[in-house]
Amino acid sequence: MTGTRPTVSKVLAEVRRRFTEAGIADPATDARLLVAGLLKFSSTEILSRGNEPVAGDKEALILAAVERRLAHEPVHRILGEREFYGLPLWLSAETLEPRPDTEILVDTMLPYLRTLAKTEEHLHILDLGTGTGAICLALLSECPEASGIGSDVSAGALRTAESNAARNGLKERFETVQSSWFQNIHGMFHAIVSNPPYIASSILDSLAPEVTKFDPATALDGGPDGLDAYKAIAKDAAGFMQPNGVIGLEIGYDQRNHVTAVFEAAGFKCVDSAKDYGQNDRVLVFA
Ligand code: GLN
Repeated sequence: MTGTRPTVSKVLAEVRRRFTEAGIADPATDARLLVAGLLKFSSTEILSRGNEPVAGDKEALILAAVERRLAHEPVHRILGEREFYGLPLWLSAETLEPRPDTEILVDTMLPYLRTLAKTEEHLHILDLGTGTGAICLALLSECPEASGIGSDVSAGALRTAESNAARNGLKERFETVQSSWFQNIHGMFHAIVSNPPYIASSILDSLAPEVTKFDPATALDGGPDGLDAYKAIAKDAAGFMQPNGVIGLEIGYDQRNHVTAVFEAAGFKCVDSAKDYGQNDRVLVFA
């Protein structure tokens, strides 16, 4: 019977063809990620095991997933998980899908945490609008002396963040708090981090359907000028920071001057910044 089944490479080629035909942006990568993910193959196995037959139930699973991708659902949402900073993370409808560019915020913050770790016995991190927990969990995985709070308005997001902490062995050092920005937060932190919603409401509709239809609007919509979240954070942050603490933020590609002005007006100084893989301003650090 198996002789009549299509092989992995044949199925992969067919998925790639359908994605290409439908104008999916990166058809080869998406086809490979989707087929490998559903067959539970690693990125090398998907190539080395190309001659193996695909069982009927697996093929049905792949075909159903292809339909979802053609309806603009991102590959990692279909698979229900993705990697961020080397950590496997569950996604849910209530969480923004972590983007590779956000890893730059983690990279930018680590030197500050490592310097602080030389003089502080224990580091406290606060991740506002934690979603999957990505930023906080990545920082905790790199800093054994740190513990963190992930806050979010969404109870569903916090459940996902908690499973992700458990999945990566970080449960003991990670806590969640349901909160709109600082509302229900107590304590003083060495690092406050956030990738808040920063898209101006009026342009939300112009984003790719992969984003607007599948990332939660609350994780994207930054209000009329896209700056609502930064204003809310800047207003109260000083009361939650250790004297030597820092704030690290992801920002929209054209928001550097605006966000800097918001934080300067609240008494902070911009001490660092970083660009994303597309050379846009993407991260600001304030102290
Ligand atoms: N980077 C996301 C996007 O443009 C937006 C994330 C956010 O608003 N924080 O798809």
